[in-house]
Amino acid sequence: MTKPILEARDLSKRFSGPTRLFAPKRYVTAVDRVSLSVFPGETLAIVGESGSGKSTLGRLLLRLLSATEGRVFYQGEEITDARGSRLNQLRRELQIIFQDPFASLNPRMTVEQIVGEPLWLHQQMSKAERQGRVAELLATVGLPAAWARRYPHEFSGGQRQRIGIARALACGPKLLLGDEPVSALDVSVQAQVVNLLENLKHQFGLTMVVVAHGLAVIRHMSDRVAVMYLGQIVEMATVDEIFDAPLHPYTQALIASAPQAQPGINRQTPLLQGDLPNPASPPQGCRFHTRCPYVTEECRLCEPITQVLEGGRQVSCHRWQEINRDRSIIQIAPPSAAFLRRRALFEHAASQTSL
Ligand code: SF4
Repeated sequence: MTKPILEARDLSKRFSGPTRLFAPKRYVTAVDRVSLSVFPGETLAIVGESGSGKSTLGRLLLRLLSATEGRVFYQGEEITDARGSRLNQLRRELQIIFQDPFASLNPRMTVEQIVGEPLWLHQQMSKAERQGRVAELLATVGLPAAWARRYPHEFSGGQRQRIGIARALACGPKLLLGDEPVSALDVSVQAQVVNLLENLKHQFGLTMVVVAHGLAVIRHMSDRVAVMYLGQIVEMATVDEIFDAPLHPYTQALIASAPQAQPGINRQTPLLQGDLPNPASPPQGCRFHTRCPYVTEECRLCEPITQVLEGGRQVSCHRWQEINRDRSIIQIAPPSAAFLRRRALFEHAASQTSL
């Protein structure tokens, strides 16, 4: 059996919350006892609403944040407390692409300095070597080498994201984390960047973790999906299982409520109601019980345990079998006109080679 390249075991992260004078200190648990594995060559998507803890989990996996509890393993070696030269080596092998291409590039640095910085920091390349490598990296992400002397403000959003990707590739990473890598871009540009990431993944044999709330992007990019709610994973399965037959009521509602809803979900599926509860004081029992249409007294009192089904699929819900016994909840309907239009847009944009 293939061994995971990256693994989290019972990972938790608590942040200090806002406090009032003389009031006891409060904590927000952004990630709560999460366990997952990422296998070589796959793309794992971590999906959830804002405040679900998905970005924090991504940063914990890359050791950009230290865990409060739990352990992280990379290629079988524990890296939870890695420091010094080991941490520097991890920084080279585990890279991140940030959400906002407008904020993630230093406006005072040229593209050559931005992309060449990790080469100077981690590989002590000479200036001439760096210039050659930067030209190669720009060509890899579809930008002319002559643009290396330009500054970030001279580029469009999609081009800036390509510069961020070139920087992430500079030191030859093994795993890329995309933290909402296309959510700040126009839909047509999103498709081009998604297509680029897919090509790079195959070209360099990369493993990818994609943190996103855009379900269309996830469907196009991922092999498996972990669905997060208030710091916990409530369902994890292959991308087809998640979109064609979601088991957890939150996954079902999330997909049904998406603007580009996957057409396979019957309109009988209840839409997502209400807001995410305050992560500083999550509901007792099942955390989704305040918004779940199937809630019972047991849900209010007892936290569901994660059940691992055949094939490795996971779901945390007391009533998932009962809820899904009525298959009308997960019937496959023909694609809607909106879905077909969106898919055509993706295919057209992906076939374009320049931004
Ligand atoms: Fe809904 Fe209960 Fe399942 Fe939670 S455990 S998702 S409240 S049915």
